[in-house]
Amino acid sequence: MSDSLFTKIINREIPADILYENDYVIAFLDINPNSPGHSLVVPKVEAEDILSSSDESLLEVMKVVKKIAPTIVESVGAQGFNLIANTKPAAGQVVMHTHFHIIPRFENDGLKHWPHIESTSEQRADLAKQIVEKL
Ligand code: AMP
Repeated sequence: MSDSLFTKIINREIPADILYENDYVIAFLDINPNSPGHSLVVPKVEAEDILSSSDESLLEVMKVVKKIAPTIVESVGAQGFNLIANTKPAAGQVVMHTHFHIIPRFENDGLKHWPHIESTSEQRADLAKQIVEKL
């Protein structure tokens, strides 16, 4: 299997604006940002998505998110951030190497949250029962 785009960044085969790196994780600015400071936090062990990454790998990623997100937010003058892992193409995942987006958010920045759907309390209760039975 050929290396992913992000493995190529890790291996310095393609350039990126790297913010932080340790033995397990790399973080760099997204090339096509949704807001200033939009960053990606990526485990160095290549896996297709968060369901394929090891727990240890994800823990290291979360440690880096907690470490760098406040500085990213402060650096761009934001007031918060969204942490997103698009998982599988149906959810908009394009790069099939586990990554989390840190998207800085500003009061009234106009970025919209997901639209809501109708759901009755009965539908939610049925669904919860189905899921709980499978877990
Ligand atoms: P996703 O849709 O969750 O797979 O997100 C992949 C992200 O990778 C997108 O936000 C892209 O803008 C970003 N991206 C693609 N190529 C590069 C690159 N060479 N350097 C930095 N970010 C990239």
